Amino acid sequence: MIFDYICGGEFRRLFLSAIIMKHPLRNYRFLLLSFVVLSFAMNVLAESVSADKKKMDRFIDGLISKMTVKEKLGQLNLPAAGDIVTGEARKSNIAEAIAGGRVGGVFNVKGADKIGALQKIAVEESRLGIPLLFGMDVIHGYETVFPIPLALSSSWDMAAIEEAARVSAEEASAAGICWTFSPMVDISRDPRWGRMAEGAGEDPYLGSRVAEAMVRGYQGKGDFKRDDEILACVKHFALYGASESGRDYNTVDMSRLRMYNEYFPPYKAAVDAGAASVMTSFNVVDGIPATANRWLVTDVLRNQWGFDGFVVTDYESIMEMARHGVGNLAEASVKALKAGTDMDMVANGFSGTLGKSLEEGKISMEEIDTAVRRILEAKYKLGLFDNPYKFIDAKREKNGIYTKRNRDIARRIATETFVLLKNDGKVLPLEKKGKIALIGPLANTASNMPGTWSVAADFSKYKTLAEAFRDAVGDKAEILYAKGSNLTYDPILEADATVFGREMRDPRSAEELLSEAMEMANSADVIVAALGESSEFSGESSSRSNLDLPDAQKVLLDSLLSTGKPVVMLNFSGRLTVMTEEIEKVPAILNVWFGGSEAGDAIADVVFGDVNPSGKLTASMPRNVGQIPVYYNHLNTGRPVPDSATRYRKFQSNYLDVRNPPLFPFGYGQSYTDFEYSGFRIDSETMPADGAITATVTVKNTGDREGAEIVQFYIRDLMASISRPVKELKHFERITLKPGESREVSFRITPEDLKFYNYDLEFVNEPGEFEIMAGPDSSRLSRLKFRLAE
Ligand code: BGC
Repeated sequence: MIFDYICGGEFRRLFLSAIIMKHPLRNYRFLLLSFVVLSFAMNVLAESVSADKKKMDRFIDGLISKMTVKEKLGQLNLPAAGDIVTGEARKSNIAEAIAGGRVGGVFNVKGADKIGALQKIAVEESRLGIPLLFGMDVIHGYETVFPIPLALSSSWDMAAIEEAARVSAEEASAAGICWTFSPMVDISRDPRWGRMAEGAGEDPYLGSRVAEAMVRGYQGKGDFKRDDEILACVKHFALYGASESGRDYNTVDMSRLRMYNEYFPPYKAAVDAGAASVMTSFNVVDGIPATANRWLVTDVLRNQWGFDGFVVTDYESIMEMARHGVGNLAEASVKALKAGTDMDMVANGFSGTLGKSLEEGKISMEEIDTAVRRILEAKYKLGLFDNPYKFIDAKREKNGIYTKRNRDIARRIATETFVLLKNDGKVLPLEKKGKIALIGPLANTASNMPGTWSVAADFSKYKTLAEAFRDAVGDKAEILYAKGSNLTYDPILEADATVFGREMRDPRSAEELLSEAMEMANSADVIVAALGESSEFSGESSSRSNLDLPDAQKVLLDSLLSTGKPVVMLNFSGRLTVMTEEIEKVPAILNVWFGGSEAGDAIADVVFGDVNPSGKLTASMPRNVGQIPVYYNHLNTGRPVPDSATRYRKFQSNYLDVRNPPLFPFGYGQSYTDFEYSGFRIDSETMPADGAITATVTVKNTGDREGAEIVQFYIRDLMASISRPVKELKHFERITLKPGESREVSFRITPEDLKFYNYDLEFVNEPGEFEIMAGPDSSRLSRLKFRLAE
């Protein structure tokens, strides 16, 4: 406690402010005393840390010295065991492997009883009794499911994102899970790639803040003293979001400059935040599959960034290396181990082949021991050697999962993630009165609310949107429901996009579905169209080449619009979709992503105005697929065309058939109220090399209801040794203002904010001229210039 205080923020602030002569306590005796106390505390702390480390090292040395090669390789083996049902653990093959010491951890087993049974086998039946790690894809919640990560990022609310991760860790750990395969921090600028749903969008700065928040949420302080703090796993290292043409698992090829400046930052931020593990990606990096890429896994991750946790492969990655054409299973396993990868997910390459490779002298015992040590260290730090059943607590599982408290948190956070794209004539919010026709394939499906990768979800517990709307309006209004259309006309495409028990196809003909909907629409006062993607239309292995609203739904929407009644479109999506046509003709569009288990209630909260929407896009929304990749922080060309240009310009960098800017820019999102920006200023036009300047903008709520606004600051390095982006997000603040209230929002800019990786990959800033910008999104910005002095 005392150390927390002494080494923590308050004391440091006091101490530093005294040093810079601003504090009333600035006298040298205070300084001296502070220095002595601080040094003493730091020493005591350092000694106790190193004593802990020595104790752990001794324990692990002792354990490793007792292990056979088979047992060592067993620790590096991570099979999936998701098919085990209660009582079956004993009978399954995995039980035999665990008892034989051939397994280090298992993943995607749901339920403390099953996990407990497997742990018991490891502890009581394997020769050395080493406990297992239990992993799971708790990507955006356990049974209380939060919005998909892309949606979460759209809240720009780091406290909320941390809270979502915290609740996820509490629930998962209550069911025996001690390791989540999250956060996924891959930057993606290509919405054809379905896994954009799992990340935080296109921006390295925002992505880094989200990465840190999630690691903090899962791991807490990182000392794993509690039984509800679990290991985070940063994935997919690296560059997975840059798969060529947005096709999943595809090739990635990029310059190191781009890696360091644009794609690496969120992984690094997660590592700096203390993430305990890292998962390698499926793709090649510089021609070598990430799992076997020593430069990536050892030079960058461990040596440059100081990562000291363990590295696990993605699903069967080692086996897939043969298909990449870089070696059979045995060769790939050797390469992966030598690269610095510690744990083999599912491929059975490490446990199946490394023994022979050791005998053949292709790897050393030291290399095996290094990997084993990292796995054992994770188990030790989690406290599993003291209590292998630490995370198995039937009571907590019964009372701590999908609780009212957790659901309320999920509902509140979900309301922050929806992005209001258009609201002509203030159609939204709707009044709770009259007849409201809720129509569309997403209107009455509970299983499609949580979104992709919600592996622990229990669909039977969740509400459909229609149920939530009825609950919201009570007897004040009538909710009429009709499906209107299937997801698509093509039943095969629909089946592929609704796997994992989320089927939703209606056997009726398209005409029947439409005529039922039209009857309802015609009798209603207002229409809400619940359209878009199903859960698995995005996510892993759900790449799309066409990002329009699916065919059947376009026809449905046009028919609904033809009634002349006000239409609100709710767009369900796990990526940025193309809505160029819809934006022209639909008066109000709310992008609701996939909002988690409480999505129905949360959407109702916003649609009926109990909550004012505040989400903003974290990736650019393209006008068409041909524009992709389209992202705000691009480089300039030698022949740039301003975004304001409305006509094609010959011999300039633009298209004949579409304007350059996206349909909606990064950072865009409306509210039910209005915000006005004014008085943008900086306190100095020169930043000393070791100083700072402050930029300030005034934001006023000029509307008639309270609302949250996300104020954004961008910087451009106008002249540098390499070409730099036209703007880069460097700071943001989410503020809430009452009607008429205004607030000054400031950004204290330091030389650190101006740094980038130069041609030699050194992290530097370069003196010269910069532009600072502030505004409500990446396209509507006030600009000022300043200089960084030599
Ligand atoms: C995905 C990972 C996931 C793993 C385990 C893979 O297919 O790429 O993100 O963690 O499966 O389920």
